[in-house]
Amino acid sequence: MASSDIFTLGLGLTPPWRVVDQRLETDYQPHELHLAVAADPGARFPCPTCGRLCKPHDWKELSWRHLNFFQHACIIEARVPRTDCPEHGVLRIAVPWARPDSGFTLLFEQAALALMREMPVAAAARIIGVTAQRLWRILRYYVGRAIERLDLSGVEAIALDETAAKRGHSYVTVFIDLDAAERPVLFVTPGKGKECMTAFRAFLAEHGGEARRIAEVVCDMSAAFLAAAAESFPQASVTVDWFHVVQIFTTAVEQVRRAEAHQHNLPKGVRWATLKRPENLTMAQRQALDQLENSGFATAEAYRAKEMLRWVRLAATPQAARWRLTNFLNHVTARLDDPDHLLDPVRQAVDTVRRNAKRIIRRWKSGHSNARLEALNGLFQAARARARGYRNTATFACIIYLLGAPINAMLDVFHST
Ligand SMILES: [Zn+2]
Repeated sequence: MASSDIFTLGLGLTPPWRVVDQRLETDYQPHELHLAVAADPGARFPCPTCGRLCKPHDWKELSWRHLNFFQHACIIEARVPRTDCPEHGVLRIAVPWARPDSGFTLLFEQAALALMREMPVAAAARIIGVTAQRLWRILRYYVGRAIERLDLSGVEAIALDETAAKRGHSYVTVFIDLDAAERPVLFVTPGKGKECMTAFRAFLAEHGGEARRIAEVVCDMSAAFLAAAAESFPQASVTVDWFHVVQIFTTAVEQVRRAEAHQHNLPKGVRWATLKRPENLTMAQRQALDQLENSGFATAEAYRAKEMLRWVRLAATPQAARWRLTNFLNHVTARLDDPDHLLDPVRQAVDTVRRNAKRIIRRWKSGHSNARLEALNGLFQAARARARGYRNTATFACIIYLLGAPINAMLDVFHST
C-alpha cells in the first residue's frame, strides 16, 4: 500500500477524493505536513442544492488545517470545483471533510470542541496553536447549531436570572427549566429587562413549546420582570425565589456598611463577617461582629435583619411562612428608627419584600426545588472563567450554553443535520 493510500484511509476520504501527494515543509516550526487531495479525473460532482451530478465548471485551490500528524501541523490542500447546474447555476461544492467556509477539517473542529468542553478557550487555543478568535468562531457555530435543535415542547416551569458578563455591565438573562435535574439552561439572551421575557417566549414557540403550558415562572423582584412575566405567561403563577430575598438583604447590608464606613471606623473584618454564614465565621470575624453589635452601628441593625431571614426560611408550612414573614417585616420596620438615613437600603428591601410577600410565600407551595437558581450562580462563575480574556455577552452566552444546556449529543461535529 502506498503512503498516499494510508493517508486517504486516515482521512476517511471516499471516492472520488483521495490523497495524491504529500510533502513535509521543514521551513516552519513546527514542521508542516501538506497533504494534497484531488478528485479522480473525469469525476462528476453533486449540485449543492439538488444533488444532480454535474461536470466541474471551474476550480479553486483551498486549504484546511487538520489534526497534527505526530508533532507536525497538518494541512490539507485541494482544488474544489464549482458545479454548473442547469437549475441552480454555478455553486461551490461542499467537500466531505470540512464545512463550507471553514479553514479547518471536521476532525480538527471535533478535537477543538473536545478541548473547549474541558478548559478555557484561551487555554485550548494555546494547546492547539491557533488563535482564540478562530476557536470562538468554531464554538459559536456548533453551539448555535445545537441550540437551534433544542426541543422545548415539554417545558412547564421556568426560572430566570440575570448576571453580568463583566462586573457591572454587559448583562445576560438566563432561562432554565425547573424540571431539569441537570443541564437546565434553555435560553440565554443579552440584556436584563422586559424584552428578555418576550424574546424567550418567541424562542419557546420556535422550539415546540407553548406559552400557555408554562404554569410557573420563578424570578427576582424586579418590577420589569414581574410585569413582563404576567404579560408573556398570563397562565403562570409567578413566584419569587428565596435566594433573591436573601440577595436583596445581603446587598442592603453591604450598602449600609459602605456608607457607615465613611462616617465611622467599623471593626476590622466586618465586611466578610456580615456576608458569611454564622457557622462559617472565624474567631476573629465572630469577635468583629460582637463588637459591631455592641456598639450600636447601623450595619449591625442591617445584619440582624438579614440573619432573621433564616428564621423565616425555616417555616414548615405556607401558613407559618406567612406569619413569620409578616412578623419579620414588622419587627425590622419597628427598629428602623434612623435619623441619618443610613438604613434606607434596608427600608427599601423591606418595602420590596412586603410588595412581593404573596409571590414569596408561593415558594412554600411550589413543588420545585429552591436550589436551582442558587446552583446557577456556580455555573455563571465557571462560565466567566472559561471566557476569560474574551468576555462579552456573545461569548459569555455561548459558554453558558456549552456548560449548562442539554446539548451534549447535538454538539457532535458529525451529528447529521
Ligand atoms: Zn441543482
